[in-house]
Amino acid sequence: MKAIVIHAAKDLRIEEREHEKPGPGQVEIRLAAGGICGSDLHYYNHGGFGTVRLKEPMILGHEVAGHVAALGEGVSDLAIGDLVAVSPSRPCESCEYCLKGLANHCFNMRFYGSAMPFPHIQGAFRERLIATAGQCVKADGLSAGEAAMAEPLSVTLHATRRAGEMLGKRVLVTGCGPIGTLSILAARRAGAAEIVAADLSERALGFARKVGADRAINLSEDRDGLAPFSANRGYFDVLYECSGAQPALVSGIQALRPRGIIVQLGLGGEMSLPMMAITAKELDLRGSFRFHEEFAIAVKLMQSGLIDVKPLITHTLPLADALEAFEIASDKGQSMKTQIAFS
Ligand SMILES: [Zn+2]
Ligand SMILES: [Zn+2]
Repeated sequence: MKAIVIHAAKDLRIEEREHEKPGPGQVEIRLAAGGICGSDLHYYNHGGFGTVRLKEPMILGHEVAGHVAALGEGVSDLAIGDLVAVSPSRPCESCEYCLKGLANHCFNMRFYGSAMPFPHIQGAFRERLIATAGQCVKADGLSAGEAAMAEPLSVTLHATRRAGEMLGKRVLVTGCGPIGTLSILAARRAGAAEIVAADLSERALGFARKVGADRAINLSEDRDGLAPFSANRGYFDVLYECSGAQPALVSGIQALRPRGIIVQLGLGGEMSLPMMAITAKELDLRGSFRFHEEFAIAVKLMQSGLIDVKPLITHTLPLADALEAFEIASDKGQSMKTQIAFS
């Protein structure tokens, strides 16, 4: 079976890997679709991000869906042929945080395609994937590409939980890549009354409008485009900061009203912040990292038609063209979500 393996920055190879059999409680999945995520692109373009560096070859990928091809012993709730979305979240289920219900903070998390621990956790971009039945959520009614969007959608559902009550809120989303645009869908589904999107790219803002943003502000044309919202101590109740860029966070902070909530999704490394505004307006700065139980909710919301991610899937390339897929995905002027078709 073939797998997509990153060796170093810009050194991506399609390699043969051994075909394994599912053990008790596991299933074998014939992969159908795999979405290329920002973290995959960091490994591809830079060999890592921040202090996380590639130290050995690693199979990439964590946004995947496929068909059940074989059942391990004791698996009764899945059948051969089922389309499943596969959660890359594999907590240990026994550490302090798992036992507290905070599985995304598991000490021993084995999240697919992550070079955070060493040996690295191998990813899911492979023709055949062995997963536990518990990672698999039946996705009948969806395309494989939509099912593979369950992962990034879960990230934004988790962020929406972190934001707290959403009903009737005014929301600002900074950064309109896949996570920003999915945040718009998640916030709206949770009851946001008004959603304003901001980005530097007109094309990204087009997607933001397409998925329901009430207004889209191009900050490359108008650097002070958010300034009007900072009058009268601010306008927005919630900020989804999805760019990881300090100027976006800073102008978002100015546009938040007192007691506003910042949910930080973008990973931008160290930055200095206007602590005076955060303090004086009593803002809440909340991180949001991965997800766990939101994964099944993401599948359900798509199945019931309450969230439609289809407009965001811009490119689908066959496995043989994986290299081209990574180049397209790296070009934000071209791609929103690029996926690889494995079968
Ligand atoms: Zn992802
Ligand atoms: Zn754990």
